[in-house]
Order: sequence, then structure tokens, then C-alpha cells
Amino acid sequence: MTTSVPTAHPDALAELALRLAATGALPAYVYDLPALDRHAAAVRAALPGVELFYAVKANPDPELLRTLAPHVDGFEVSSGGEVVHVRSLFPDARLAFGGPGKTDAELALGAWRLHVESPHELRRLARIAGAEGADILLRANLKASIEGAALAMGGGATPFGMDEDGVAECLRLLDGAPHLRLRGVHAHLASGLDAARMLELADRVLGYARDLGLAEINLGGGMAVDYRNPAARFDWAAYGRGLAVLRRPGEVLRIEPGRALTVYCGHYLAQVIDVKRVHGETFAIVTGGTHHLRTPVTKGHDQPFTVIPGPGSDGPRVRDEHVTVVGQLCTPKDVFARRVPVAELAVGDVVAFAMAGAYAWNISHHDFLMHPKPGFHYLR
Ligand SMILES: *Cc1c(COP(=O)(O)O)cnc(C)c1O
Repeated sequence: MTTSVPTAHPDALAELALRLAATGALPAYVYDLPALDRHAAAVRAALPGVELFYAVKANPDPELLRTLAPHVDGFEVSSGGEVVHVRSLFPDARLAFGGPGKTDAELALGAWRLHVESPHELRRLARIAGAEGADILLRANLKASIEGAALAMGGGATPFGMDEDGVAECLRLLDGAPHLRLRGVHAHLASGLDAARMLELADRVLGYARDLGLAEINLGGGMAVDYRNPAARFDWAAYGRGLAVLRRPGEVLRIEPGRALTVYCGHYLAQVIDVKRVHGETFAIVTGGTHHLRTPVTKGHDQPFTVIPGPGSDGPRVRDEHVTVVGQLCTPKDVFARRVPVAELAVGDVVAFAMAGAYAWNISHHDFLMHPKPGFHYLR
């Protein structure tokens, strides 16, 4: 989390923000596609010899997928809906299809790689796959220390993937299912780890795959992003160098990040409609709310933001104060950021929330309170 990248197009964002504010078109999401293009190219360049897939669940917006497509080797999908969505955009894309609880109908959609999550799923797949069979990876949940991770998908008891016993059962089942081609191991153990910790986990997963005699290894996603520092980036160069050292000849390594690819390209813009002091605390109330950008509530952080000065109004204005920024919902949970220092903020200003390009709009509870949906705009 060291490399500093300047915010892309600050002027273009501010200009668009004021145009949208002037026409009453806020709140809105704005995606900076050139910034995403540059970022994806840099990530790709840092990972020679490693297959890069994008985890679509982070943000399935078609414009983002089109921007990413030239830089990635395929897409990781986690539902039948995502399979159909990505195929409608890129009929020939390589799909790696994972996720617990795949239905028979979802398994029947097939994929370039299917990540098998349980012995029962493997039995169902053996029935459904038909004569052409399927290329599969077994999703392993290895015992591992993943201290410091933001989310744990493995390393202990979770519903994701299989422990050694589950994998052993699958290997026995595969002896009687020659139409299922076992390609390798999939492991997505944790989210929010830095490059050094990710490499430690990769080393463990590779050792595990080698013991099974498997040479195709999907190391998952989960590369850390730092919501306290929008300029920080996961150290892709160190990660790429480390993987190059770990990889043995003949092995195929694949990763499938989501958040760390798209989070930086998205902004959520909302306009300040009220500023007030209540029992000693200053609140700025903006149009929209966490029903559009749920991320700060689910992750318990302050969503980073900048203030774009509006045209001015006769409404309240604060200077050099700590401000709590909230939305329009009638719940105390509708908070974007708590008591953050703000140089100046007034009614009519636009608050531009950064790092809203992943797990933002698409994880939010849009219909709560029946406010209008935001607009979607793209810097090109
Ligand atoms: C969610 C998910 C990813 C992407 O995780 P990020 O934290 O967004 O990088 C990758 N693989 C699997 C299996 C996932 O469930």
C-alpha cells in the first residue's frame, strides 16, 4: 500500500459534478473509465506470467467490464445471473464459475472452469455435465492464519470450499467420473491482505496443490484497499515479483481480484441540502444516502470524500469543523462519515465520495424509502 497515484481527472469530475448539480441530476455515480483503463494496464503489467481474472461481483457495470476486458484473461463469476450477463457482453470470454450453493440450473450453464465447493456439488455436476464433461478446480479451504484480514472466506470453519476431508472425498468421486477433468485447486481465503501476506498464503496454497499433483492454481482475490487513504495502492509490483519467484515451470497461476481493480474508478456525488448543529455535533445532510452507497455501513469506515464548492446559497456554511455526513434515510445508520475535519462546507456544495467503484451501488438496498435512483455517468 505504498505507491501513490494522483486522482485522475479531478477537474473533469468537478466540472461534471457542477453540471449535474445545476440540472438537479444529483445524486449520481460517476465512473472514470480512463483511470480504470490505466490502473488495469498497470496491474496487468505487474503480473507477467500470471493469469488475471476480474471478479464480476465487485461491480458488473457493462462499461467497466468493457474497459477491463482488454486487460484481463477472463472473468470470475459467482451466479447464473453473472454468467448470463458476462456472456451477453463477451460471448467467448473465459469464465471461472465459483460460489457456494450453485443450483443444478446454474451448473448446467457450464463455464471454462467450474470451481467445485463440496462433494455433493461434485456429484450433481457429474450427473449434469453430460458427455462433454467439465473442467474443474476444487475449492480448498486450508487451515491458515489470516489475522488482519477484512473478511475471512477460509482458514477455518466457513461455508466456502472444502477442508482436506472434503477434497479427499472429491478425489475418490472423480475416480468414477472421467468426464470431469480435474485441472487444479482454487483458494480464495481472505480479503484485505497486503502483498506480503498474500504471498505467504500463495506459498501455502501452492504447496498444497503440488502435494495433490496439480499444476493449475487459482489464488483468488482479496487484495487490500485502504479506505483511509484513497491514494494508496496494493503493491502489485511486489506481488508480481513474489509470484514469479514462487511459480515453478509448468504451473499456471491465476488470480481473480475484484475490489482492488474497480474501487478507485467510482465516485458517488451527492449535494448538501442541509447543515445543522444538534447537541454539539455538526451534520451535513446530502441528497441520496447509504441506500445508494452502503459500503461505509457494511465495512464500518468513513467513506473518503472531497467537497466540490457549489454555486453558493444563503443556506448554512461551516469552516474548519468536524462534520458528520449523512443521507436522507430515516435511520441513524445512514452515515457516510463521522466527525471528519472539513475546511469548508455549505448548502449546495457537492460531496464527491471516492472509492465507490466496487461493492458500492450493487450491494446497496436501493428501494428503502423509495427515493429516486441515482444517475450513472462515465468520464471517457
Ligand atoms: C469476492 C470474490 C473474489 C474477489 O474478491 P475481492 O476482495 O473483491 O478481490 C474473488 N474470488 C472469489 C471466490 C470471491 O468470492
